[in-house]
Amino acid sequence: MKAHEGMYIAGAWRPAAGEDVLEVVNPADEQVIAHVPAGTAEDVDAAVRAARAALPAWAATPPAERAARLAALRDALAARKDEIAETVTAELGSPPAFSQAVHVGLPILVAGSYAELAASHPFEEKVGHSVVHQEPIGVVGAITPWNYPLHQIVAKVAPALAAGCTVVLKPAEDTPLTARLFAEAVHEAGVPAGVFNLVTGLGPVAGQALAEHEGVDLVSFTGSTAVGRRIGATAGAAVKKVALELGGKSANVILPSADLVKAVNVGVANVMSNSGQTCSAWTRMLVHRERYEEAVELAAAAAAKYGDRIGPVVNARQRDRVRGYIDKGLEEGARLVVGGTEPPVARGYFVRPTVFADVTPGMTIAQEEIFGPVLSILAYEDEDDAVRIANGTVYGLAGAVWAADDAEAAAFARRLDTGQVDINGGRFNPSAPFGGYKQSGVGRELGAHGLAEYLQTKSLQFQER
Ligand code: NAP
Ligand code: MG
Repeated sequence: MKAHEGMYIAGAWRPAAGEDVLEVVNPADEQVIAHVPAGTAEDVDAAVRAARAALPAWAATPPAERAARLAALRDALAARKDEIAETVTAELGSPPAFSQAVHVGLPILVAGSYAELAASHPFEEKVGHSVVHQEPIGVVGAITPWNYPLHQIVAKVAPALAAGCTVVLKPAEDTPLTARLFAEAVHEAGVPAGVFNLVTGLGPVAGQALAEHEGVDLVSFTGSTAVGRRIGATAGAAVKKVALELGGKSANVILPSADLVKAVNVGVANVMSNSGQTCSAWTRMLVHRERYEEAVELAAAAAAKYGDRIGPVVNARQRDRVRGYIDKGLEEGARLVVGGTEPPVARGYFVRPTVFADVTPGMTIAQEEIFGPVLSILAYEDEDDAVRIANGTVYGLAGAVWAADDAEAAAFARRLDTGQVDINGGRFNPSAPFGGYKQSGVGRELGAHGLAEYLQTKSLQFQER
């Protein structure tokens, strides 16, 4: 696997300021596959300066030319499809087919969508005797997690570049190699020097330095609620704009009229995909009391079918954390119907696909984000009870509703305090706004709503004639 040394700053790969390195580990076999430099505040400062220096020219670049660079970026990612998929599999552990289809396929679509939006977005509008210009917000500090290592990067960098912003990216320490391939693609796409910069390193060091840097105008963060809260506080104190994509504990609500077999099977697949490491995963399944046992049986069979086909979780800490939640579920009296804490294989950070029944709304496994292949099934008495349970967490990122017809499901979905709901298995739309209600976050990503996050308005008033 080839990887450049150092950091990508001001259009070139340059050595890090310090000597420290991070180990990159393959979670499927626990082998060290690479080292990358652990960036410091000094590297972050150099990157932010480069981004500031590049800002005026990039902000003044006509949207059509920014669109052309984004189209070239989409093509550069597509040309590296196999290499990126192999890298995601090596550092995240995701099965190869999922890496190809989702980890690489989705970001290519999103990059393409921003090439189109940059070309078509009306960056000015008339409001009475005013002309309102939408201008880039400035230098963006992007901090991303490991769970969708390329998607999380593209979901921030593509709209930022479309808007005319410049970017410094601090990717997750577990998945820096995918971020480097992305930087290579940006370079190949002819994006001018300094418009995009990459600093690898640890969250509390490089990430924090980026979030605190006074040369950053907007901090866009995806990750845990705990870190997001701190970043929000830091940004608030500096009167800096912040976008936070945080955790979730989404509900998959199966109404009595639904096709139970389909709803349960799609629901289980949704939780097990990416080994449960999806912030929008429907980790709580809500089933009417009368169909509860039937649903539990179906879910157990569906989860058992996954067996050893799911990948590992990203690292030993996540594996231990997920197992801790499984223990907690048992302790609090939930009924384990499949899976458990026993390691399925001797090597690698694998967790068995796990399903709990008889989960009650107050249990830890019904309230906290587990971020592993663990499904909790809860019973409800009637629709009002289902709404109460579904809305009864601090989160509100996503969800699903199933019913005999779309109108019935949609009416129920309107009662959920959440940013996205899939109706009867409606598939993910990479141009629809994605983001959280309540503690799932602030702001939206993807599509035109995602672009708006990187723009600020300037109103010019003209004399009325
Ligand atoms: P995390 O610590 O919040 O990591 C997200 C990003 O923030 C990483 O790049 C991380 O760097 C960085 N970071 C960490 N501490 C920071 C700080 N003090 N200042 C600035 N940046 C900082 O999340 P995690 O530890 O990887 O995962 C923990 C939990 O977060 C998961 O179990 C899950 O519940 C949740 N999570 C949610 C999402 C989501 O999409 N909403 C994604 C991933 C994780 P390092 O990589 O060096 O830590
Ligand atoms: Mg961390």
